[in-house]
Amino acid sequence: MDLNTAISLAKDARLNSTNKNYWVGACLVTNSGKAFSGCNIDNMGIQSICAERTAFVKALSEGERDFNYIVVVGGPKDAQILEDCKPCGYCRQFMLQFVDKNFKIYTCYGENNKIDEYTMDDLLPNAFNLK
Ligand SMILES: [Zn+2]
Repeated sequence: MDLNTAISLAKDARLNSTNKNYWVGACLVTNSGKAFSGCNIDNMGIQSICAERTAFVKALSEGERDFNYIVVVGGPKDAQILEDCKPCGYCRQFMLQFVDKNFKIYTCYGENNKIDEYTMDDLLPNAFNLK
């Protein structure tokens, strides 16, 4: 799956957010080309789950283990122009268990849909890792 398609799927997923203020979407792409999208799910601030973990949990629960990259997009509710929205610390640590340090994380934001590329190692250097 090409990156632009994954970005579109992440943007679509973002619209399903249950957060009252900030909507995030993600699209996790496997090495076999499957895509698992997700949004941030909040229930009154308790046991909330970010878009990245939603996408990972969907994929993992269907047996997927071989991941290529993830796209993350976010911005205020109803915003058409997205902000630079990188994974939170919890998601970084969560993802690390299932990917290697070269796993790619893309963000897409701004009026011109700027795309930034990170590796897992960029976002979580010298990480605790039991693998
Ligand atoms: Zn998170």
